[in-house]
Amino acid sequence: MTENAAKEGWSGSRHLLRQLRDLMKGRASDEQRLDRIVGLIAGQTAAEVCSLYLLRPGDVLELFATKGLKPEAVHLTRLRLGEGLVGDIAARARPLALADAQAHPSFAYRPETGEDMYRSLMGVPILRDGRVLGVIAVQNVQRRDYAAEEIEALETVAMVLAEGMAGGDLAGPTESGPSLQPARLPAAPLTEGLGLGVAVMHQRGIVIARIVAEDPEQELDRLADSLAAMQASLESYVEQSGPGETREVLETFQLFARDRGWLNRIQDAIRSGLTAEAAVQKVQSDTRARMEQIVDPYLRERLVDLEDLGYGLLRHLLGDDGRAAAARLPPEAVLIARNLGPAELLDYDPARLKAVVLAEGSPNAHVAIVARALELPMVGRCSQALTRIWPGDFLVVDADHGQVLARPGHAVRETLAESLEARRRRKQDLAVIRDLPAVTADGVEVSLNANAGLLIDLPQVRDCGAEGIGLYRTEVPFMVRDAFPDVDTQTRLYRRVLEGSDGKPVVFRTLDVGGDKILPYWNEVAEENPAMGWRAVRIGLDRPVLLREQLRALIRASEGRPLDVMFPMVSEVAELDRCRSILNLELKLARAEGRTLPDPLCIGIMIEVPALLWQLPAVFERVDFVSVGSNDLMQFLFAVDRGSPDLARRYDILCPTALRLFKGLVAEAERAGKPISLCGEHAGQPLEAMALLGCGFRTLSMPPANIPRVKNMLRGLEVGPLAAYIDFLAGQTCHSVRERLRHYARDRGVILD
Ligand code: PEP
Ligand code: MG
Repeated sequence: MTENAAKEGWSGSRHLLRQLRDLMKGRASDEQRLDRIVGLIAGQTAAEVCSLYLLRPGDVLELFATKGLKPEAVHLTRLRLGEGLVGDIAARARPLALADAQAHPSFAYRPETGEDMYRSLMGVPILRDGRVLGVIAVQNVQRRDYAAEEIEALETVAMVLAEGMAGGDLAGPTESGPSLQPARLPAAPLTEGLGLGVAVMHQRGIVIARIVAEDPEQELDRLADSLAAMQASLESYVEQSGPGETREVLETFQLFARDRGWLNRIQDAIRSGLTAEAAVQKVQSDTRARMEQIVDPYLRERLVDLEDLGYGLLRHLLGDDGRAAAARLPPEAVLIARNLGPAELLDYDPARLKAVVLAEGSPNAHVAIVARALELPMVGRCSQALTRIWPGDFLVVDADHGQVLARPGHAVRETLAESLEARRRRKQDLAVIRDLPAVTADGVEVSLNANAGLLIDLPQVRDCGAEGIGLYRTEVPFMVRDAFPDVDTQTRLYRRVLEGSDGKPVVFRTLDVGGDKILPYWNEVAEENPAMGWRAVRIGLDRPVLLREQLRALIRASEGRPLDVMFPMVSEVAELDRCRSILNLELKLARAEGRTLPDPLCIGIMIEVPALLWQLPAVFERVDFVSVGSNDLMQFLFAVDRGSPDLARRYDILCPTALRLFKGLVAEAERAGKPISLCGEHAGQPLEAMALLGCGFRTLSMPPANIPRVKNMLRGLEVGPLAAYIDFLAGQTCHSVRERLRHYARDRGVILD
């Protein structure tokens, strides 16, 4: 295509797509069809070369067909993922268009191809469900500046090829013999447990069967009808929702639905020969690719909204055919995705989902919190998840050790199935201790509480024998919503939590957003160091309306019941005083409105910021209780990012310094006569929990699923002698006392698993 041809419009491209479709459906052998396809693309794009590379076992891109390069290079030229320009396109899943390709730092010369005479290169990844299947590239002898329209046209071609491969019309990587060998893929544990099942690729619930359209006009009409239908349903939502934030969000959403740039791009894609649904999907994937490059949070959010809107439109276009993939899960499924939002995970049937594998993701991402609540084994940072796992593969997800076993052999499967059965039995055994008291072997009573954040946590809190909810993370329901909940919505939610906890105490922590906990609908400035940035109570104090509304909802929900409110990330006494003044304003308002006030109302703070350690007497004078947030406290104490798997083992919470700190905190609380608990993830690990009891803690809060194991541990433990041993360990100077504590437990028959 000359530059003029590129701007001429899409009629050439439409013709190309039809020819491609016919070629793919033709009777010739796979090899002949691929040869004709590359010939066709080279001709249509006015390029001297067109080459198709497919991803092969071992993350190798193999030249499968070419027009223009030496034919003997076919099946001989191979590039590792990331190697050369083609490898770069595949590794980044992004197009490249270079007028002077050989000057690019990634250029890798392969003599067998004879490509030294070609100066310019344009290549795009062949993607399906976010997975790279291969690369299609064109080259020109003369220097050529490829236009954006040309890249788009080639991407459209790649999309058609990908669908052809997925639909079996064209030999793709699977048909051309991917490794059926077992493989072990390293990953980072995001939750715990072992899950076995069949790989299912996350598709955000959309399946598109028809890609190439016969009649673009008809497709444009279908698009217009679906847009009108979507607009109408948005309008009726806007009318139904009263004034307030929900309405504002809907109106903004509606505004996006009229975004000309977005619509134009969809219409252009239809004119290029795609069906309306394929065009929307193509613009979706472009949006996603753009999103990855944008740092401005406002623009990013806007693109996220457009993406959501696109899915809404797809559902309108596809009607019943676009039903959620979630509904079609096999009985034992392992979900594979690049990344997932918490709401997306909740779309899947938890009874069928056995594990989740993410190519990205981190343990503190909210999707991990939801997975933990569902007791779903989940691993992340599995960089090969989208290249070495194929739909239908049998997988073992070992979230305890951070690995995925793909296509394991029969013997491995049997051993794992036995191990799973043993775990199931163990869980049943542990269920027996549910109603036994949490009392140590030497008669010390311990209060074991649950951390929660979603309504789906509540049945689990009831089943695990927790004494109450020691930490209710109010930000979690905020994170899984599309808009900021107003006071009424929050009141309803907190009331359901109080009612669902069967009268057991619940400690509501006020909003702890910021850092890694991002609200999808809230655009705030990007920070270089968000964990130490504008988060938690700092936001609440700077935006008092937000905090006031939340406290108002909590007071209303309690309706005379006991209410425990806890403020996160407090750094100084003055902040605590301001929180209390804001709470007093809300109590005054409630009184003026004639409401029944909470009784009793207890106020606490999290100890997460080390600066508080030097303000403890004044803190204890002002609060009714404190809870140690060991996740954040350790991160700030040791200056180590809590979300970094690389640093996760760098410093050990079971070190003399941390033990001294915990002992000192408990002693200070005892002196002041105020209750102290610990609610970081560490409380849920039997060995860590043992050490914490030895430091003097008598109240712990943890993920509900961990309570039986911790209770099992403490029922066999004598705290008295342990406290003396902890005194000794706290005086040491070593890196970690973990092994010594493990031996201590083993020698005394304390069960840690
Ligand atoms: C903590 O920091 O230990 C804590 C419990 O809070 P979060 O994990 O929600 O930051
Ligand atoms: Mg914290």
